[in-house]
Amino acid sequence: MKKEYTHAKGFNVTSLKEVAGLYFFHNIKGEVEYIGKCNNDFKNRINSHGYGLHGKLSPETVYLRVIIADPINYPLHVLENFFIWYFGSQKNKSLWLFSGVENEKGLKKIAKSHNLYIRGSLEKFILSFESVLIKREWDENNKNIRYGEIEQLSSREIFCDSTQSCLCYRCLVIAERKNKGILYL
Ligand SMILES: [Zn+2]
Repeated sequence: MKKEYTHAKGFNVTSLKEVAGLYFFHNIKGEVEYIGKCNNDFKNRINSHGYGLHGKLSPETVYLRVIIADPINYPLHVLENFFIWYFGSQKNKSLWLFSGVENEKGLKKIAKSHNLYIRGSLEKFILSFESVLIKREWDENNKNIRYGEIEQLSSREIFCDSTQSCLCYRCLVIAERKNKGILYL
């Protein structure tokens, strides 16, 4: 069988071909370390990240979560800024567009002025996107790169197990709402 290059930094990104959206780096506990955006080539985008002081990857980065979003409908840099605001990812140094936002109403107003329309609750909006979680794989030599066969999308989905450590998208979003509950008063 023909071997295809399918991995970027140890993540199998095969099925993300021609997909655009946001991506999260998660540590083993599921905490969001970094959020970025990708317009067309996830393999290239993920490969561009390095380690070290200014790198966004760390040896503890175990999961890649992708939020699929069509750039025609959603200005990705605004969406990215909004997700950074919502999840408070540590390796994103600034809140950019949404710094100083104090409540949901103010946030929606700024988003709207940048052509991102958030209707209904923030959670409902965030959960309206399809999410894919990819666990990191390693080759035998720990070189972060592997040649493998194309993986099926279904094998990469994580289903809700309703525990506190659940890594599904819904549980992640709900947990974050609880963390910053005061903002919604
Ligand atoms: Zn869950």
